[in-house]
Amino acid sequence: MRLLNFIDGQWSEPVKGQYRNIYDPATGEPLWEVPRSTPEDLNQAVEAARAAFSSWRLVPGPKRGEILFRVGQLLLERKAELAAKMTQEMGKVLLEAEGDVQEGIDMAFYMAGEGRRSFGQTTPSELPNKFAMTVRDPIGVAGIITPWNFPMAIPTWKIFPALVMGNTVVFKPASETPRLAYELVRILEQAGMPAGTVNLVFGSGTEIGEALIHHPDVPLISFTGSNETGRHVAEVTGRELKRVSLELGGKNAIIVMDDADLDLAVDGIIWSAFGTTGQRCTACSRLIVQEGIYDVVRDRLKERIEKLTLGSGLNEKTDVGPLINKQAVEKVKKYIQIGKEEGAYLETGGDVPHDPGLASGHFFLPTLFTNVSMKMRIAQEEIFGPVLSMIKVKSLPEAIEANNQVTYGLSSSIFTRNVNAAFEAIRDLATGLIYINAGTIGAEIHLPFGGTRGTGNGHRESGTAALDFFSEWKAVYVDYSGRLQRAQIDD
Ligand code: NAD
Repeated sequence: MRLLNFIDGQWSEPVKGQYRNIYDPATGEPLWEVPRSTPEDLNQAVEAARAAFSSWRLVPGPKRGEILFRVGQLLLERKAELAAKMTQEMGKVLLEAEGDVQEGIDMAFYMAGEGRRSFGQTTPSELPNKFAMTVRDPIGVAGIITPWNFPMAIPTWKIFPALVMGNTVVFKPASETPRLAYELVRILEQAGMPAGTVNLVFGSGTEIGEALIHHPDVPLISFTGSNETGRHVAEVTGRELKRVSLELGGKNAIIVMDDADLDLAVDGIIWSAFGTTGQRCTACSRLIVQEGIYDVVRDRLKERIEKLTLGSGLNEKTDVGPLINKQAVEKVKKYIQIGKEEGAYLETGGDVPHDPGLASGHFFLPTLFTNVSMKMRIAQEEIFGPVLSMIKVKSLPEAIEANNQVTYGLSSSIFTRNVNAAFEAIRDLATGLIYINAGTIGAEIHLPFGGTRGTGNGHRESGTAALDFFSEWKAVYVDYSGRLQRAQIDD
């Protein structure tokens, strides 16, 4: 099967007619072909989006929302089939792929409702016979650049609020996961999005992503991906004074206190560290444990980790699917070596599996390091694989300090039965997401999502926070006094 770009309401071949193959990460089998677009394709998409903006911005919000309701219904009808395609292309186990699609469904219904809300403020004026209010204005063409690890959810976090606010979209999905992007845009088309409002251009980050962030007719960029790319996107867009939202990497920790419910904590750790094979931006890769229970937690984790089943995500018995590609396996291997050299103790894992049935996929054994100190690179850098590092601490303040001692600030969690400790943690953990007695993953779409410090640039996705990124506030003053009234001067 051959995927196509979607430009100005037409499914189009790339101008230069070049394609590349996408492979199943669990088996190495070729799946489908995807365009290798060039900046010419991208320019056409931006032109279509720019032209469509003049009419889309005037479509009433509730009507824009109605289309998103239909999108939500179509996603719901096709949930199982979309999840299976995601698993084939990206590797995560089916249950998690269904969760990824469900997030898109939730976002469609939530943002559809914003078509009727999009509330501003009405407020008194300091002068008599004067009325004051705020309204939201769309901005223009939104460039959407997404990673491969949430092939449905992340594009919907960006595209749906952009559209409901009245912007038009040029979408450049991750090179590794084009299929779900293609299906999502087909659904948007089917639901009735007018030609030019949503455009899809496949291609590499260095060619199509680069052309999108540089394009003078694209005033806002919503980017999720690695810190390295995000920094570059910030530099380019900063020079042009574009509006840019960056959601970047994580080095998230779970804290386990001596008084924690250990069964619950171990369940939360396994799910957060090895779900999606550790390839979530919110994955737990550091485990900060109070000294009294450190050995028990280690032993129980080791036992559970060694029982995890690796395999294709399509197989119901699989707990841990493959990594996305060969480079990801190499990166994880490199960090295993670094961890050993730094003096961490490898409790289990640390290698590719030697099962011949898994030889053609990008698998890596779930790994546990103990004896890890916060200075080590494995405790500081994002590995983005199934590797968990255990750090021992004496007290809650020490645990919080360890949590905050990384450049990232996405998610953190604490397991404790002590309500005072929980509230102290809520006050002092310096991350954008905090979980009490749950792992580091599991965000819901009506709350703001995003990280502090090195994880981003202060914007948030999801909830009403997303509307702020995709719209411009306009303050409106209506003076019905019939005379000149000077603010701050006249009584
Ligand atoms: P990546 O930075 O390699 O790629 C992300 C996107 O940027 C892709 O679409 C890619 O093609 C594009 N890109 C690459 N070079 C570009 C350039 N020069 N100009 C413009 N676009 C360019 O990241 P990835 O490997 O796809 O994703 C994994 C990373 O994403 C991890 O660091 C993970 O933590 C992060 N992530 C963050 C969040 C979050 O919400 N904070 C969510 C998911 C993933």
